[in-house]
Amino acid sequence: MDAVAPTAEVDARLVARLRGAGLRVTPQRLALHRIVAATPRHVTAEALLREATADLPGLALPTVYSTLELFAELGVVRRVAAPGAARYDTDPTPHDHFTCTRCGTLLDLDTSAGRAAATRAAEAAGHRVASATVVVTGVCAGCAADA
Ligand SMILES: [Zn+2]
Ligand SMILES: [Zn+2]
Repeated sequence: MDAVAPTAEVDARLVARLRGAGLRVTPQRLALHRIVAATPRHVTAEALLREATADLPGLALPTVYSTLELFAELGVVRRVAAPGAARYDTDPTPHDHFTCTRCGTLLDLDTSAGRAAATRAAEAAGHRVASATVVVTGVCAGCAADA
């Protein structure tokens, strides 16, 4: 038994969200959610499909995409608006990102200052803010060291 989040607890969280939204609980949704909930990271549909095929033979990429989009609507993951393949953040709390234009890595930034300032500027201009995303792009420390 994992002390942090036992499978039953992970399942219960998704079941509550699906039922709350009037959606069906399926073995496929539960299995994909278990994989997503296992590690904090930024996952692509392709990577999730590779990990899930052992448990879910016959699973297709469009299904993984639609399930990740569903999880995003339910607030289980957050879609990161970064260049390249769609990335889903298993940490749904708002935070900022850095993405590398060379290797494509997506990393968390330990600040919300840019997002807070952008939100204030939008509100000061009379806009109603729904969400704010800050993605800093450039060459990551690892790639810069290789150059
Ligand atoms: Zn890089
Ligand atoms: Zn993140």
